[in-house]
Order: sequence, then C-alpha cells, then structure tokens
Amino acid sequence: MYGTGLAKGLLLTLRHFVDSYVDDIRYGFRKYHHSTDNFGVRQGTKTKGVITVQYPDEKVAVPERFRFVPFLIVEDEDHPTRSGKDWCTSCGICAKVCPPQCIWIVRGNDPNTGRPVPEPEAFFIDIDICMNCGFCAEYCPFDAIKMDHDYELASYDRTTHHIHDKERLSKPNSYWRSIAPTRAYEEMLVRGTWEHIDVAKEARRGAARSRPAAPQAAPQAELAAPAAASEATPPAESSAAPAPTAEGATPWSEDDAKREERRRKALERKARRAAKRGQ
Ligand code: SF4
Ligand code: SF4
Repeated sequence: MYGTGLAKGLLLTLRHFVDSYVDDIRYGFRKYHHSTDNFGVRQGTKTKGVITVQYPDEKVAVPERFRFVPFLIVEDEDHPTRSGKDWCTSCGICAKVCPPQCIWIVRGNDPNTGRPVPEPEAFFIDIDICMNCGFCAEYCPFDAIKMDHDYELASYDRTTHHIHDKERLSKPNSYWRSIAPTRAYEEMLVRGTWEHIDVAKEARRGAARSRPAAPQAAPQAELAAPAAASEATPPAESSAAPAPTAEGATPWSEDDAKREERRRKALERKARRAAKRGQ
C-alpha cells in the first residue's frame, strides 16, 4: 500500500527515540560512575536508542583490533637485561610491503667494526601517507611493529609533526600488552615466549652448548630404564629453552645439524664458484 514504507521508517525512528530515553533512565547517573563499566556498555554495541557522544569529553572505547598508525615495540624500562632495546632488527620487510611506501629505515652499524647490527639507527613513518592497512604489522617476523589505538594525532603543522621518527614511534612492550592483551597472548604462544624471538634463540643456543655429555649417557639410560621417558619431567612454562628429552637430544638439535649441513654445502658451492672464476 502506498505510504507503508514511510510509516515503517517513522515508527523505527520513534522506537529509537523512545529507547534512548528508556535506556538513559535505566542507567541514570551510573553511566558516569568510574567504578563501573556502565559508560562503556552504554556506548557499546549492546546499547539501545540513539546516543550522542560528547567528544572529546567522552570517548567511545575502541575494540582491541582497532588500528591506527603503527608504532615500534621496545623493551620495558624495568627489563632485567634489555631495557629500552628495540624489537626491530631493521630487516626492512615492513618497508618493502608497505603499499604507499611511507616507511624509511636506516640500519645501524657497529661504531667499532662498521658492520651492520640488527637494530635501526633511524626509523620514519609519514602518517599522512600511511593508510592504516596494517600490512607492516602483519608481515614483521619479529612482532616489532604494531598498530596503535591513538587516533588523536591532528596538528597545525603537517610538514614535520606528521613524520614520526623512531623516538616518537617507540612504545614499551607493556603498552602493547595493555591495548591488545588477546593478540599479545596469541603472539606469545606462537613465539613460545613473552621475550623477543632472538632472546629465545640465544637461550636455546646456550642450552645446546652446555650439553656435551648427554648423548653418550642416553643409550645406557634407555637400556636400564626404558620407561624413564614416560616419567620425564615436563618442560617448565617459561621463556627459557625446553628441557632435553630422554635421548639426550633437544628438539632443536636436528635443526642445528641441518643448518650445519646447509652451511657446509654453501661453502662447497662458493669454493666451486671461486675455482671456476679462477680458471
Ligand atoms: S619493524 Fe619488523 S619488518 Fe620492519 S624492519 Fe623492523 S623487524 Fe623488520
Ligand atoms: S599501516 Fe600500511 S600504509 Fe601504514 S605504514 Fe604500515 S604498511 Fe604502510
């Protein structure tokens, strides 16, 4: 019938109008009470009616996966061994995958040897060009660059203020864990530690270096007590390397052997190439 759609639309508007007041009465002044989360609920997806957010006095909480411009993770100040150290190794992958090419990285060099070191000397992101796609954070193999929740970045000077340097980009690991606890936890599970992936690797290397006698003792132990493996203590849940298995080998010893084999073959190939060039 002519006008039915119009009536439905008006009824919907009326329902939102009434719901707004009903919800306001239901929450009353509790909405502004800091000891409850009523304010967040009232402005969340479960709310009814139409509300006005009195920005900037009131702000709608952003979801955990909200992303604005990227920032770089550095160790917390109270970290026992790596206080303030960058997680970024200046590998350059983020700069390569960035679609609008708004990341510039200068790799650091050792002042004594002049050789490159795995940390950036300078890191810039032009946030006027950044389109907040999050590719840099997705591709970073060291979990060193993350998307921030801070969206209040407007300024009167876009020539310099909108090019974020390393100092401005760097934020402690604890900040990332506070704004995105679920993602930080998921990443920790994949890395196997709350620490930087290089720290975990170094711990594994240290453990591998300090197990010289274990492989000889293992066969006798197997003969004497075949059931010992099933009674072995499970590895502790920590950032340190996992405990050796009953055979005296660690889960990464096979990787070490393969790596050594690859290295040997690479050296052989290099020698063959050098010999060809010399002919
Ligand atoms: S932020 Fe990640 S991807 Fe980018 S240079 Fe640093 S380590 Fe590499
Ligand atoms: S969020 Fe996207 S556009 Fe912005 S710096 Fe990262 S990759 Fe580049």
